[in-house]
Amino acid sequence: MAVAQLTEFDIVIAGAGMVGASLACLLADTPLRIALIDRLPLTPASSSEEHELSSDKFDPRVSAISQASQQLFRDIGVWDGIAAKRACNYQAMEVWDAEGTGSISFSATQISEPELGSIVENSIITAMLHNRIAQLENVTAISLFSIESFESIEDERGSRIEINASEGQSIRAGLVVAADGANSKLRQLANFECREWDYEQHALVTTVRTEREHLNTARQRFLETGPLAFLPLRVAQHDDDQHFCSIVWSMLPEQAERMQALSEAEFNTELAAALEFKLGAIKWSDKRFVFPLRQRHAIDYVKDNIVLVGDAAHTIHPLAGQGVNLGLLDVRALAEELTGGIQAGRSIADSVVLARYQRRRKGNNLSMMWLMEGFKRLFAQQDLGIRWLRNMGMNAADKMMPVKNQMVRKAMGLDN
Ligand SMILES: Cc1cc2nc3c(=O)[nH]c(=O)nc-3n(C[C@H](O)[C@H](O)[C@H](O)COP(=O)(O)OP(=O)(O)OC[C@H]3O[C@@H](n4cnc5c(N)ncnc54)[C@H](O)[C@@H]3O)c2cc1C
Repeated sequence: MAVAQLTEFDIVIAGAGMVGASLACLLADTPLRIALIDRLPLTPASSSEEHELSSDKFDPRVSAISQASQQLFRDIGVWDGIAAKRACNYQAMEVWDAEGTGSISFSATQISEPELGSIVENSIITAMLHNRIAQLENVTAISLFSIESFESIEDERGSRIEINASEGQSIRAGLVVAADGANSKLRQLANFECREWDYEQHALVTTVRTEREHLNTARQRFLETGPLAFLPLRVAQHDDDQHFCSIVWSMLPEQAERMQALSEAEFNTELAAALEFKLGAIKWSDKRFVFPLRQRHAIDYVKDNIVLVGDAAHTIHPLAGQGVNLGLLDVRALAEELTGGIQAGRSIADSVVLARYQRRRKGNNLSMMWLMEGFKRLFAQQDLGIRWLRNMGMNAADKMMPVKNQMVRKAMGLDN
């Protein structure tokens, strides 16, 4: 997209990833003039048409999209396009402990839903969002704009923020939404305080072809060194091949280094064994990528005219596939509060409006983060007594339908 001529906006959304781009779409029917900026080129409208959906060209980054997130994508008119491209609905989930006999399973039929969620490649979601943005009159997309600095200024329109790019461009707005991801430059420049710590785990991700069919089931085995997830993939809309999975394998950093150095055949053998051959042998695996995992949560989401959303506000262990789902709940809440504020005649960066957004989201995000931290610590325990209790607890929870149903509804974003 070309550099915008217009440099004055009501809102600048910094970061056109899944979260920032969704916010721009949610604000499409407002009178607000919005700039959506990103340091990278936005996926051109045509490239999603060209997106090759061959079986060995899966994006290694995928997300388990909850029902609440699907509904948001439906509301902004992109879900049908995503589902038509490539989304794998999964109807069941199996979770088990590598150290013992504890296991728990969830199924969509138990809660009278058609599916538990969908596994979708991140690049398909962003391509569809960027296509939609190209159709919106009140959104100006500005790519290759890498945030370098910002300053708070007072002009004839009140208090505003000027953002400067490394290429010398500047834009101004009354409100800046930082959706620039886990290492948010804006969060750092504006000195938002965070609580953060290293999980001391790295996530290895890749795509694999398995001997047995995945049967639209997500699987997760908790190993002492971290969880291993097999997420079912779909090759194309009318293709029943159920042999492809995306894997997210959290492990110690030195183990990740070793795994990355293995030959494909060696890696496939270790991976199949780590899943206890539930899907048979691994027949093929793609290039491996490694991401360091870090827990981070901003103490405040709002400071003057800047507001944090998505990974800029919080990053969470991928073990329950909740990261982007939480970010989408953030922007749903922020869009509702901003729209309500405008209708009530309030200014765009009104402190009451922004405080309401923070109140709606912070506690919810925090409780999900603590839950994931608890799981991670619980499964890292080697004490025999704790292991026994853990296995007993899992098996007991598996038999308690109301507890299980509540857990799954929460994960699907249905009870927030
Ligand atoms: C291994 C792994 C597996 C995961 N699996 C799941 C899952 O199954 N389900 C789930 O819900 N979540 C999952 N997550 C989390 C999910 O990927 C993130 O929560 C999500 O991508 C965050 O989206 P975002 O839009 O907030 O940030 P990002 O996707 O990071 O987007 C940020 C955007 O800002 C831009 N940007 C950054 N810096 C600048 C700058 N200085 N100037 C201009 N632009 C800038 C970037 O180019 C990018 O487009 C997983 C994460 C990992 C690591």
